Amino acid sequence: MTRLVMKFGGTSVGNLERIKRVAKRVGVEVARGHEVIVVVSAMSGKTNELVGWVGETGPLHDAREYDAVVSSGENVTAGLLALVLQHNGIDARSWQGWQVPVRTTSAHGSARIEDIPTDNLATKFGEGMQVAVVAGFQGISPEGRITTLGRGGSDTTAVAFAAAFGAERCDIYTDVDGVYTTDPRVSAKARRIDRIAFEEMLELASLGAKVLQTRSVELAMRYDVRLRVLSSFEEMDENAGTLVCREEDIVESKVVSGVAFSRDEAQMTLVSVADRPGISAAIFGPLAEEGVVVDMIVQNIGEDGRTDMTFSLPVDMVPRARRAMDGVKAGGEVNFRDLLVDSEVAKVSVVGIGMRSHAGVAAKMFRALSEFGVNIKVITTSEIKISVLIDRKFTELAVQALHDAFELQKA
Ligand code: ASP
Ligand code: MG
Repeated sequence: MTRLVMKFGGTSVGNLERIKRVAKRVGVEVARGHEVIVVVSAMSGKTNELVGWVGETGPLHDAREYDAVVSSGENVTAGLLALVLQHNGIDARSWQGWQVPVRTTSAHGSARIEDIPTDNLATKFGEGMQVAVVAGFQGISPEGRITTLGRGGSDTTAVAFAAAFGAERCDIYTDVDGVYTTDPRVSAKARRIDRIAFEEMLELASLGAKVLQTRSVELAMRYDVRLRVLSSFEEMDENAGTLVCREEDIVESKVVSGVAFSRDEAQMTLVSVADRPGISAAIFGPLAEEGVVVDMIVQNIGEDGRTDMTFSLPVDMVPRARRAMDGVKAGGEVNFRDLLVDSEVAKVSVVGIGMRSHAGVAAKMFRALSEFGVNIKVITTSEIKISVLIDRKFTELAVQALHDAFELQKA
């Protein structure tokens, strides 16, 4: 008997009609002879509503109670789906995180899964249970409190179950029919990718492609879980969607697989800081303490012992970053002449494992941008990614130019 994990996102279980449709799909896999673990999200919009209510109780809330409230959306959909499956004659029951149990750390609001003992579910499967409907996004801490895994966390629940139960595959059903070369709302030429390597998907997810939670991709890569992203609104087909898999399982890979972007970036420059050992630590230490996630960093070549330091950050973190920098200036740890902030920037990146073995990707990227008059402010690279910071108003233009330059419309 092979095991399959099927995960359904919020729009796929958004109302009872849709839950019935999900039950049909699950029924098909049961009929094919699979033991199925279904992981569900809360109905679309539900988690936002719950988060909003917690926020209204006051700004400084107890994170344990936040999790108690915010995890509840998934309990509803798990129970409802189990009921519909039962009506269809399938032996199904719901499982909340603590019942499995999904053991996590105590980092409330962004807990990590540590362990999923398989005994409880395995016993029930042994007694004839055909489908376990698991509430995604939640677990239990060593202290016995309910935890949640961070927004989008039910993807991670699904992958963790697939790993723990040695599932043949983990199918992530969502409202798009796969992973695209770029956001189809930005480029009409965006194409669905048949197969993408874990590493590429990891970059795309962390660069802002919202289709999978980054942590779920990390986990899939570590435990070699074959992940498929597909739409719950289309006909079932063995080859539908996008398979996220090992590099070796991709027959023909392109140099660049996708163009990602994030519009909500800001850039800060400390003008004329002392160029001496320890200065970076004195700047980025306090930023980290303020919880500011810095991404790109550039330090210019110094002159007369002074230099400029530029970094990028999410635009909503600008106030905290400013506070941190005002603090180090006032405390005398870092002496800079000016703090320049540009809150109108975007990050555009090209991603592809083929870059490892191909020269000239950066040159091609920069040429394509220059042909459209897009000025590059900051550049960073990794083995399989090149990112640039540009004026936000050029985001669409840059994405389309790069999509064309690397001929991503072609399969
Ligand atoms: N319901 C949670 C959220 O909206 C978890 C998930 O859907 O993955 O973030
Ligand atoms: Mg999601």
